[in-house]
Amino acid sequence: MSLSGKYDDQNIFAKIIAGEAPAIKIFEDDAVVAFMDIFPQSPGHCLVVPKAPARNLLDLSDDVAALAITRVKAVARAVETALSPDGIIISQFNGAPAGQTVFHIHFHIIPRWENQALGRHGGGQADTVELKAQAAKIRAALT
Ligand code: AMP
Repeated sequence: MSLSGKYDDQNIFAKIIAGEAPAIKIFEDDAVVAFMDIFPQSPGHCLVVPKAPARNLLDLSDDVAALAITRVKAVARAVETALSPDGIIISQFNGAPAGQTVFHIHFHIIPRWENQALGRHGGGQADTVELKAQAAKIRAALT
């Protein structure tokens, strides 16, 4: 799928936003929903997903992009408090050749620890109980 194109409202993140697919949520307001990545590259890997129907950052309005980055920062801070990582990757892919696999704008928050290898992008599915425990800690650190 190319960088430009029509937004597909049947993508998995659109379904999560609409409440039609499950997610282990951390935070939600009018602008974004944040939830655990079920194929995490490290423990605590989560996603901040603007609710606007945009395929990528280039399709997002400036206003929503500005709101979204404040939520990304807040969730990253909560991840820092909850999980005490040594570093945090914030990433966002635009178009399949750039690594995008879900064509609804989203930001990755990926905690990193010294001497711990980063998992493969879209690797194995995580244990739901573990994801829920991580989400609870991150949620608690947000409030
Ligand atoms: P990207 O390559 O930036 O489009 O990343 C999409 C991300 O969504 C990947 O890290 C996937 O592991 C993640 N993902 C795919 N389906 C789901 C889902 N149903 N719930 C949570 N995360 C998902």
